[in-house]
Amino acid sequence: MSTHERHTPLLSVRDITKRFGSFTALDGVSLDIRAGTTVSLVGESGSGKSTLARVVVGLESPDDGSVRHRGETVRGRRARQAFRRGVGMVFQDPYESIDPRFTLSEVVAEPLRAHGMYGPDGRERVRELLESVGMGSVDADSYPNRLSGGQRQRVCIARALATGPDLLVCDEPTSALDVSVQAQILNLLMTLQQERGLAYLFITHDLDVVRRISDEVHVLYRGSVVEHGPATEVIGAPREAYTQRLLGAVLADSPRHRRIGGPPLLSGPAGTAR
Ligand code: ADP
Ligand code: MG
Repeated sequence: MSTHERHTPLLSVRDITKRFGSFTALDGVSLDIRAGTTVSLVGESGSGKSTLARVVVGLESPDDGSVRHRGETVRGRRARQAFRRGVGMVFQDPYESIDPRFTLSEVVAEPLRAHGMYGPDGRERVRELLESVGMGSVDADSYPNRLSGGQRQRVCIARALATGPDLLVCDEPTSALDVSVQAQILNLLMTLQQERGLAYLFITHDLDVVRRISDEVHVLYRGSVVEHGPATEVIGAPREAYTQRLLGAVLADSPRHRRIGGPPLLSGPAGTAR
């Protein structure tokens, strides 16, 4: 690895602003993700987490700001196409994100076909992908209707990995799953990170998860990053009043399953330095 590669973030998000009509969903958001690391994004419901995820993967175009991948600004058709190969996305609801009319192998092969990467070895690649997410013993020509939520999410992860990305954007990938399955999916994601050197932008409501998996945390409030830093510092000793209240609300709410969410509990980022 050259010095340049070591110091250039894998992903660099700069001053992203996104409006829906007169509503500003993201207001100048910046963050960096280094190769092979996990950056978590936390914040109450409606703070703009999913919008940022969608902008990062190119499902939504920002009104302002830029996304750089390996030091190159993602701009223009060819750069965007190359970038889409390099980044995968896993959504919250594995039932909504798989079309029941397609077989498992068709679902996983879809990104390969979309990028002209489905060659003579396509079937074998799909089989390997299913194997890598613990679905090696499932009939690849069957339909997803019999699969559990956890199995569906595994298929979604296989699909996200199909083009060989170096970054996965995971938008609450375990929050629609049974509690018993959540840890399995999380462990799978951690294993895949080790094996493939993946970086994650990880959106979650679960602070135990944040603590376990993150190198860095960004706290979003009404479309702005109000605090960011190493996970141990942000979660262990939050500097900003908003983060403290966010954590406090979560802790008071449910000490066992520390979740951020539900109706907005917080009236404003009083005392936060922006
Ligand atoms: P989060 O994922 O943190 O809950 P979202 O990014 O989904 O928040 O939404 C942030 C805000 O942007 C919300 O107020 C939401 O209603 C609004 N929003 C998101 N997508 C759209 C859209 N396509 N059109 C209009 N408003 C939207
Ligand atoms: Mg969301």
